[in-house]
Amino acid sequence: MLAAHARYTIDCDVLPRFTAAYLRVADGECAFIETHTAHALPRLLGELALRGLCPDDVRWIVVTHAHLDHAAGAGTLLAHCPNATVLAHPRAAVHLIDPTRLIASAKLVYGEARFSELYGVLEPVPQARIRALDDGASFDLGGATLRVHYTAGHAKHHFVVDDPALGTVYTGDAFGLVYPQLQHSGRFALASTSPIDFDPAEARRSLELIVGLGARHACLTHFDSIEDLREVASQVRAWLDRSEAWLEQCLLSDASLEAQTEAVAASYRAELSRYPLSAEDWSLLQTDIALNAQGIAVAAARRRRA
Ligand SMILES: [Zn+2]
Repeated sequence: MLAAHARYTIDCDVLPRFTAAYLRVADGECAFIETHTAHALPRLLGELALRGLCPDDVRWIVVTHAHLDHAAGAGTLLAHCPNATVLAHPRAAVHLIDPTRLIASAKLVYGEARFSELYGVLEPVPQARIRALDDGASFDLGGATLRVHYTAGHAKHHFVVDDPALGTVYTGDAFGLVYPQLQHSGRFALASTSPIDFDPAEARRSLELIVGLGARHACLTHFDSIEDLREVASQVRAWLDRSEAWLEQCLLSDASLEAQTEAVAASYRAELSRYPLSAEDWSLLQTDIALNAQGIAVAAARRRRA
């Protein structure tokens, strides 16, 4: 590891150890990777202060994709960091500059009331302060070079950020969900197949790409750094395979989207019941079961229309 290079995990959500952002420090400069929502602003700025840095030192605000638990706070954070530029996938940048569609589609998924509670205000990012990065593009931070790689499957606007100086890859949602609370009986990793872009073949390709980068650490947004990348990849791949089988069942069914979503959720719960999960574990998983089931049913509906 280079001297004066470090990364710190910031616990952003109301729910502890559920959603992370990362502060990457390099020779007096720094970058945030992920922002969570505007609600997380005090925690992000607090981490800077804790590390002896100030908002002027922030050079980059990087978001792995435009889902709101990763990027909704980008505009608000940017307004507090005068020297920062937002870095995003081109498809994500469009939504951050004009978040109207992002807000509308999230309200469809969560409903109006829950939306405000979860995401609060979404400040648009001024076009002059965002840079869309091509696949394979790099950016500098202190003496380090970080590089992005497109990783569709979870979302079409997703990239991961490779950080060889720290042997780390920041994986957003492309390397699954590894909640610390669920790691009591060995490794437990799930895929995230939430609406609206889920594509199992692309998601498997992205998993392979991430493992192929050869990083020692994968920093997941949900949640924190893991080192057993091959084991996590193999569990996530198994969930992608199951999700694909459920998607194919949806393709054969004439039921409504709601009924298909409920059927996939039931299959999901049946599969999960093979694991030693406590009542608290089940309660933690409720949102992901519902979102993953919805994402699979929506993917089938979109494929049928295509
Ligand atoms: Zn996501």
